[in-house]
Amino acid sequence: MLRSGWQVLRRSLPQLVDEMAIAPEEIHQLVLSVAGVLNCHDVASRGVVGQQVFIEMHLIVSPSNVVEAHAVTEAVEALLHERYAPARIVIHVEPPEYHSDRLTYS
Ligand SMILES: [Zn+2]
Repeated sequence: MLRSGWQVLRRSLPQLVDEMAIAPEEIHQLVLSVAGVLNCHDVASRGVVGQQVFIEMHLIVSPSNVVEAHAVTEAVEALLHERYAPARIVIHVEPPEYHSDRLTYS
């Protein structure tokens, strides 16, 4: 009983550990603290914090013009760099109708 439970856990652990370098909830909370950010979803991260991480997300911002939307994106990138550098960050800016509560890719 105990043993088979452990085997199930061991089978699922590598995926749980390897998939995300940083808890998506943590990134989500950080990103939403940036002025102009309306929504952040489909967050993914890989690598090791302090060595090299890759962060990816979908972002919806309040400004609709490209210059201002870009400025919000840069503020998000700066904050993530400050917290997790060295980091490579890819942000997909989306229109408001792509708003989603899906925190990670399923
Ligand atoms: Zn999206």
